[in-house]
Amino acid sequence: MTAQYFYCTQCHKKVSTSLRLFDALYDFSKADPESCPACGAARELHVSLDFQLGVGDGDFKVVQAFLPEKLESWLGEEEEEVTLYPFLVVLEGARGKQFHWMPYWHVVGKDARFGQHALCLDHKQFESLIAQAQERTLAPV
Ligand SMILES: [Zn+2]
Repeated sequence: MTAQYFYCTQCHKKVSTSLRLFDALYDFSKADPESCPACGAARELHVSLDFQLGVGDGDFKVVQAFLPEKLESWLGEEEEEVTLYPFLVVLEGARGKQFHWMPYWHVVGKDARFGQHALCLDHKQFESLIAQAQERTLAPV
């Protein structure tokens, strides 16, 4: 299981959120977290993940979260609309190392199903893939 909480950079208060991970990331992709109710300073969103990314204790600061501008939807098995939410999340570990994490959910009605195969790449690997894809796309025919 994952856990997520807000961390105040000023008074160092940690407040765990009852939001599901999907909702916490979705909200974060749309707006900065609400400021600290105790001191009014900006707060960070942190996630504790139960899988190892090769550094630290599994506690990560969410630096950025993105969704594509246009989401894909289709009709599922029971004629319900299914929407894919592929996130690109920049995480920062305890030693300041950043990762690109790509969790995704299939949302059917109010049900958000977590995809099982989230990618996690370090910055250099991610940049290398994007650079190659852009190079290929931009290359003259
Ligand atoms: Zn505070």
